[in-house]
Amino acid sequence: MLPIVALVGRPNVGKSTLFNRFLRKSRAITHDMPGVTRDRIYGECVMGDVRFDLVDTGGMVLESEATPELSKDFEDEIFEQAREAIEEADGIIFVVDGKEGLTPLDRQAAEYVRKSGKPVFMLINKVDGSEFAPQMTAEFHEMGIEQMPVSAAHGYNLHEVRDYVRRFV
Ligand code: GDP
Ligand code: MG
Repeated sequence: MLPIVALVGRPNVGKSTLFNRFLRKSRAITHDMPGVTRDRIYGECVMGDVRFDLVDTGGMVLESEATPELSKDFEDEIFEQAREAIEEADGIIFVVDGKEGLTPLDRQAAEYVRKSGKPVFMLINKVDGSEFAPQMTAEFHEMGIEQMPVSAAHGYNLHEVRDYVRRFV
C-alpha cells in the first residue's frame, strides 16, 4: 500500500484543482477505493521518485457553490470529511486561499490538523505569480505551519511540492 497524503482545507481554496493538476502531471488515473467513504476521492500520484495516494475531500464543491452561506450541518460534514482524511493520512497538505486571505474556518481546520500530530505543510494557493507572493502570504505566517505559495491554475511553484511530500512517504 502506498503512503497516503491528504489535501485538507476549507471549501473553494483550490484542493480539487490541485488534485487534478497533480494527477494529470503524473498521468495517474483517479479511482474509487472500495471500502472507504464515497465522499473522499483517491488518486495515485507519481512525482519522479515519489509515489503516494493523494486524497481529495470531494462532494463538497457543488454544494458550496450552490449555497454560498454554509449551513451548520454542511460545515459539520466538511469537518467530518476532513477529520477522516486526516486520520488515515501519513501526511497532510493544508491548503489556503491567498486571494481570500486567512479566515476563521482556516484557523479551525488548522487546529484539527495540529491536534492530529501528523506532518503537515501549507500551500497558499491562488498566488498566480511570484510577484504577488510577498503580499499574499504575509498574513499566513502567524499560523506557524511551514508554507509555500502556489498557483494550481497557473502552475506556479507546483514542481516544488515533491520535495515537501518526500518527507511524508
Ligand atoms: P476546493 O473546493 O478546495 O476543491 O476548490 P476548487 O479546486 O474547486 O477551486 C475553487 C475555485 O478556485 C475554482 O473556481 C477554481 O477555478 C479556483 N482556483 C483554484 N486554483 C486557483 C489558482 O491557483 N488561482 C486562481 N486564480 N483560481 C484558482
Ligand atoms: Mg473540491
